[in-house]
Amino acid sequence: MSTAKRRALAIRDRYGLRSPPTDEALLAVCEAEGLTVLDGCPELVGRVREVLIEDCLCLACDLDPCERRWLIAHGLGHWLLHKPGVWFFHQDARAARSQQEWQAEAFAGWLLCAGEDGGPPPLAVLEEGVGAVCAWARAPYLSVERWLRAALAPGVPLRSRA
Ligand SMILES: [Zn+2]
Repeated sequence: MSTAKRRALAIRDRYGLRSPPTDEALLAVCEAEGLTVLDGCPELVGRVREVLIEDCLCLACDLDPCERRWLIAHGLGHWLLHKPGVWFFHQDARAARSQQEWQAEAFAGWLLCAGEDGGPPPLAVLEEGVGAVCAWARAPYLSVERWLRAALAPGVPLRSRA
């Protein structure tokens, strides 16, 4: 099991998170882990959606609720796996990503999208395709699709958006 997955599942266990966790539960985990979340930071413009500076996670102004959830989970991943440091999240999904960025994405996916048993999302949801997983986990399409492709065993079919 990857480090990011192990840490995400340990956090789910420690705080008794549901599948998927509520926004309130997610923010309570951040607070308990010493991470302050600041919404609507006017300094963040354009493609920069999130910056983690020391113990403050700064989020852009115009995030939709799904994107905001994912970014909070992503930033929490950096905070738990990579601190200290300064981390940025850019909107461009195809931007070159470091090992740490992949880890933060994997952490977010396992925190928000794992089933009750700590495995993949429930089969009934998974069988409906990526869009159904997004609706269930309230998470953004591209992030969920990338995470599912990495998280699922090879050979598990995945229905993407046409
Ligand atoms: Zn990041």
